[in-house]
Amino acid sequence: MNEEPLLSVQGLEKHFPVTKGLLKRQVGAVRAVDGISFDVKKGETLGLVGESGCGKSTSGRLITRLIEPTAGKIVFEGADITHMSQGRLRPLRRDVQMIFQDPYSSLNPRHTVGAIVGAPFRIQGIKTEQGTRKAVQEILELVGLNPEHYNRYPHEFSGGQRQRIGIARTLALKPKLIIADEPVSALDVSIQAQVVNLLEDLQKELDLTYVVIAHDLSVVRHISDRVAVMYLGKIVEIADRKGLYESPMHPYTNALLSAVPIPDPKRRTERERIRLQGDVPSPLNPPPACRFHTRCWKAQEICKQVEPPLVTLAPNHEVACHFPENAPSGDTAAAPAQTAAAPSD
Ligand code: SF4
Repeated sequence: MNEEPLLSVQGLEKHFPVTKGLLKRQVGAVRAVDGISFDVKKGETLGLVGESGCGKSTSGRLITRLIEPTAGKIVFEGADITHMSQGRLRPLRRDVQMIFQDPYSSLNPRHTVGAIVGAPFRIQGIKTEQGTRKAVQEILELVGLNPEHYNRYPHEFSGGQRQRIGIARTLALKPKLIIADEPVSALDVSIQAQVVNLLEDLQKELDLTYVVIAHDLSVVRHISDRVAVMYLGKIVEIADRKGLYESPMHPYTNALLSAVPIPDPKRRTERERIRLQGDVPSPLNPPPACRFHTRCWKAQEICKQVEPPLVTLAPNHEVACHFPENAPSGDTAAAPAQTAAAPSD
């Protein structure tokens, strides 16, 4: 795997203004994404996980420049694309593509599969009509669909097949990076594994890099090399797959993992489910310091006063918590004193 990051996100923020009255005076801001940083190497899959409203989908839309960031930097293949004009972004649109959650609403019901999957070729003006048909049929075959179904409409397919059509459309222009936003959450459990396996096969075959966004840690476990956990617009833990699933350090990650189904009945009865109290606070007015302190069973006074920075506590394992779990010996006790003096991010 090449060590140079394909994508680098630095201090990325998205604050949506909240306005009031006829004059639309700004009275606040929803801090959907509030200073996240991470790299994604070529050929790697990063899972981005968290509850609804944590900012993970907004992060995906920022990376693809579907929405404009409030602050921070997005670097793709060494080029700063944060404020690149739409004209200069055009070639980039081929390299960075998005798979959407809902295969029902993301496909135009009045268009044939051929028109849907062939649209990127037409928009970019890079193939003749005959060339487009041949290319589309090849992609349909690649994602496990019958090329003869070129003239069929989305309603003639099952949910899993429709997501395959969405994936085929994404692959049309041979992208380098795919942001998959909840790619299987709208599908039956029996179909989810098939689509995840398809994404993995395509990654190997086409040398793709993925950012897979999901609310469910069990979905990204299979496919991710590394996983970042988000809470209220911030990354609270980021680690390689083994570290995150076998030795989670942030209490929030532990709570999410305790809800993941375990097939083994013995281990299932042994495990203790952590039930988080209350709802996720509003990103309009997030709790000060550690944003998780209103729901954390380990919270102490320092958690309400000093924001814990994201620090490396094990190889390839960063966590933002004053009292991390599973930390290598010595780090847990030392963490509050260290982080109290550190600047918040
Ligand atoms: Fe819980 Fe404190 Fe860690 Fe926040 S910093 S997750 S409140 S222990």
